[in-house]
Amino acid sequence: MAENWYPRIDPLLCTGCGDCVTACPTGALGWQGDSAALIHPDICTYCATCESICPVYAIELPYLIVKEEHHE
Ligand code: SF4
Ligand code: SF4
Repeated sequence: MAENWYPRIDPLLCTGCGDCVTACPTGALGWQGDSAALIHPDICTYCATCESICPVYAIELPYLIVKEEHHE
């Protein structure tokens, strides 16, 4: 489920400042009502710029947990 790895923006926390929309290098973010939203998930490169720039921590990137199998 690739969808699970996209940035999630909490519309309840988002103040609509627009910083993430401006900062996103690929233009993947846009608006859904008064909140920023990932409107083009297909072009998101998962760079995490939006997560680090949001002043109210409304953006969360789920991190991939890689399970390693060790054969000893
Ligand atoms: S992770 Fe990067 S490419 Fe994806 S929406 Fe955020 S700023 Fe844009
Ligand atoms: S930077 Fe944060 S508060 Fe500002 S528009 Fe983006 S998600 Fe909303």
